[in-house]
Amino acid sequence: MRRCMFCPQRANSKEDLWPKWIVERAPKGIGTFGVRGLHERIYIPGPGTIKARVVCRRCNNEWMSRLESSAIPIMGSLMKGLNLELGVAEQATMARWSIKTAMTFEAQRPTRQRRFYTDEERRALRSNGIIPRYTVVWTARYGGRLSANAEAYDVGGLDERNILVPGYVTTLAIGNLALQVVTLRYGGGSIHSEQKPGPWDASTLQIWPYVGVQRWPPRLSLYDEGALTIDQFDRRWAFGPPHDGWT
Ligand SMILES: [Zn+2]
Repeated sequence: MRRCMFCPQRANSKEDLWPKWIVERAPKGIGTFGVRGLHERIYIPGPGTIKARVVCRRCNNEWMSRLESSAIPIMGSLMKGLNLELGVAEQATMARWSIKTAMTFEAQRPTRQRRFYTDEERRALRSNGIIPRYTVVWTARYGGRLSANAEAYDVGGLDERNILVPGYVTTLAIGNLALQVVTLRYGGGSIHSEQKPGPWDASTLQIWPYVGVQRWPPRLSLYDEGALTIDQFDRRWAFGPPHDGWT
């Protein structure tokens, strides 16, 4: 019997990986979901058309449904590229939605690959809306294909003792809205992870942990080609020497 990924109930609800409200607002359609592991790369075609049996009816109809309902007015506007001021409530909703989506997409990894997020983290999100520790969420503006795409990969960060700490990066591009969730397994002391150089201060807004009211969009947008691409944004995390990015 397959268990709901968020609670001990049976996974008896088929759920669209991309919610309908996103599919309806993504004029160019739904892309693939790719996971780049440390050792292999897999593609799962057409997540919009795949209904995954990973959650129970109660989760689907209750907390997940409430989360979608609170995300729609904010994210629906950002997907259309509208300027918006994001306060603490809007940022927290977007961050929770992003981590929920990162978790449900992760369930599509082949069973031989270990999931990064734990049962405990998924249950804490369901019960109390708790975002896993050492998670940072950014938003950006995307001026590319106006579809819905997701990419994820395993990443390593070095802690202050130079010990490799596993991390997981999920990047979502839906309409004009880009979101990125990074979670690291903090080992004590300060975490260092290599971020590739780029104008990230001018092109991204941190929405979790909360650092203040944010005016969306950032000054620079991400495109499919040119000086600053969604691909660079997605791949900006890598192995490398320590620096002071994560504390
Ligand atoms: Zn459940």
